[in-house]
Amino acid sequence: MPSCAVISCRKKSNKFNLQKDGISFHLFPKYPHLKRMWTEFCKNAPSWEPSRTSTICSAHFLPSQFQYLAGKRRKLVEDAIPVLLAPPTSANTDVQENEESITIPPQEPETATKEKLLVITQNAEIKKLKQKVEHQALKIKRLHSQTRYLKNKVASLEEILKSLNNKANKEQKFILQNIELANE
Ligand SMILES: [Zn+2]
Repeated sequence: MPSCAVISCRKKSNKFNLQKDGISFHLFPKYPHLKRMWTEFCKNAPSWEPSRTSTICSAHFLPSQFQYLAGKRRKLVEDAIPVLLAPPTSANTDVQENEESITIPPQEPETATKEKLLVITQNAEIKKLKQKVEHQALKIKRLHSQTRYLKNKVASLEEILKSLNNKANKEQKFILQNIELANE
């Protein structure tokens, strides 16, 4: 049964679901650098590593980080990283009762600011990448129209060459005929 790996959350899928609460559970990404960011976000013991079935619940992601699929389903965009700390819920209280060994530290404002800064830097990075992509798309468009122009030019030059060849052939024939007439 999936549960959220974030220490201050620990939502369990038997209590929360997409239909009822709008909560979905998402497996850790395969890419090592993303996986590390997810792992660090959980704030579990330093030695903790996510397993193949570890998940983080949707409460830690921004709406813009989801791709919405048919049938009310959704998945995270490929490079999504958790950024939001979920407000405490009744699920946390359960955890505190059941797993007394885990103490949940209150979120320090400093960390929250750091996370906010992280989001801001990432947004700036994404914006930069988007601009780069747009720039490249323009370049490709320009190259396409240049290719089209050159193709047209080649075609018209071929046309001119063909008519010149025709003309040359006709002139040659005319000269040959004249020579034959002169010889008769
Ligand atoms: Zn969670």
